Amino acid sequence: MPEVQELLIEGMQDLLHAEHQLLKALPKMAKAAHEAELKQAFEKHLEQTQVHVERLEQAFESLGAKPKAKVCKAMQGLVEEGQEQIAEGKEKQPSTADLALAAAAQKVEHYEISGYGTLRTLAEKLGQKAVAKLLNETLAEEEKTDQLLTQICAPILERASEEKDVGDRHARAASASHHAGSRSKAH
Ligand code: FE
Ligand code: FE
Repeated sequence: MPEVQELLIEGMQDLLHAEHQLLKALPKMAKAAHEAELKQAFEKHLEQTQVHVERLEQAFESLGAKPKAKVCKAMQGLVEEGQEQIAEGKEKQPSTADLALAAAAQKVEHYEISGYGTLRTLAEKLGQKAVAKLLNETLAEEEKTDQLLTQICAPILERASEEKDVGDRHARAASASHHAGSRSKAH
């Protein structure tokens, strides 16, 4: 087997493990999301992720290789960071928590975009048209998901910034009344 084909198969084993991890992580992210649109985006991407696993399995078959998963340490780390955001989000404003969650999800998508992009190019070079097509279909969905998350976050960010302004006003009001008092410290 040419070494480039081995590289392709190893990369697919890595992504298969990554996708398996996401099947477990996405329902937790959907549950943690406050914004309905964000929740729906995670739920929809969970369905797509099931198809990503199927496409990888088909690609393995096309190459006459077993659909074996190889531990993807990068995705383990990214998923762990996502879990941290879910835990820390409980102490945050809902909109800020959603922004942090979406940011963690976009890091995941970018990892996948990188992986599928490279493997599609390898498959094309090897003349494995069917495999390249499968990888490209998934790549397109990962890219769309990344863009969708950016879109969903724009109004949430808008609101989160306003929340901060309200906080600032409270702080300024408190500071002003403090100054009015006789015990005011030098500011
Ligand atoms: Fe995926
Ligand atoms: Fe994805």
